[in-house]
Amino acid sequence: MVSSTTDRGSLVLDLVQRVGAAARLETVAVPLRGLDADESRAVAEAWCDRAGHQVVSVDAEAVTVRKGPRADPLAGLDPSLLPGTRLWLYTNFDCNLACDYCCAKSSPQAARRALGVDVVRRLAQEAVEADVSELILTGGEPFLLPDLDELVAACTDVLPTTLLTNGMLLRAGRLERLRRMDRERLTLQISLDSSTPDLHDLHRGRGTWSKAVAGIRTAREEAFRVRVAATLSADDQRGLTEFHDFLESIGVRREDHLIRTVAHRGFADSGVELTLETLVPEVTITADGVYWHPVSADHEDQLVSRSLFPLADAIDEVRRRFIEMRTNTTASAQFFPCA
Ligand code: SF4
Repeated sequence: MVSSTTDRGSLVLDLVQRVGAAARLETVAVPLRGLDADESRAVAEAWCDRAGHQVVSVDAEAVTVRKGPRADPLAGLDPSLLPGTRLWLYTNFDCNLACDYCCAKSSPQAARRALGVDVVRRLAQEAVEADVSELILTGGEPFLLPDLDELVAACTDVLPTTLLTNGMLLRAGRLERLRRMDRERLTLQISLDSSTPDLHDLHRGRGTWSKAVAGIRTAREEAFRVRVAATLSADDQRGLTEFHDFLESIGVRREDHLIRTVAHRGFADSGVELTLETLVPEVTITADGVYWHPVSADHEDQLVSRSLFPLADAIDEVRRRFIEMRTNTTASAQFFPCA
């Protein structure tokens, strides 16, 4: 049987939905979705390890899972996913695009709400003291900021950093800013949703695919590590094989391809429902406060604190709430990777 990334993704989506809807310690049978038993077991065990559940059995028809959580509220959680391991910073909220699923409600009309270099520098320094291992800069479109190179340097001087961008502005003065950034410590994560323009342009605007691909090529020519992130609805995940082949053909390695599911947040009128109870947090800082997760940085329901400093206190508060929820909730928290 030949399986695909789509089959594995479908099984994970089924697990999230069916186990998420079950009561604690209830067993749930989830159909195999075109995968054989061995591959289904591997996918289910990996997901259960992250989410705190247990695979009970696998046969030709279904994988059966017992819903957690386990007695230790952090059991099964990958140490790299502990809240505070990665710190997200929203550099700004304005953007040259207005994608129809943007979780941050960014657009050319959005107010900038920039953190600014001084605040970012202080956050980066406090992040080191708080044992953060990676900084992730996002927006809005960070390359709209005239001092982005300075802001990125404040981060790469102290920690490995990833910078999210739509890749469309890497020309002229902004290309010069990119050239001043640290190639050893910085990864660029560029958004691209498909191997041909149709799907990407449908959600992000006519002509955006070509410019994003040009941006990926430019970043590779400038010797930056480039990760490409696609944001796709469950229905849009059919052409993934062609997508991976295309990315490899333009020099983006397979381990640097990230497929994200559209979240029902911001401008999106459908997508995966993400709540405090069902989301493994990743501490996220904006000019407005500390948030539970980057996908909800414009949503009051996931605001943790209006105070950015001391950063260690903000991280402790997210960890405390997460442990409390994992101990008490019947919902299954899932890791929803944005980078
Ligand atoms: S999804 Fe990214 S590129 Fe699109 S509007 Fe939002 S911030 Fe801008």
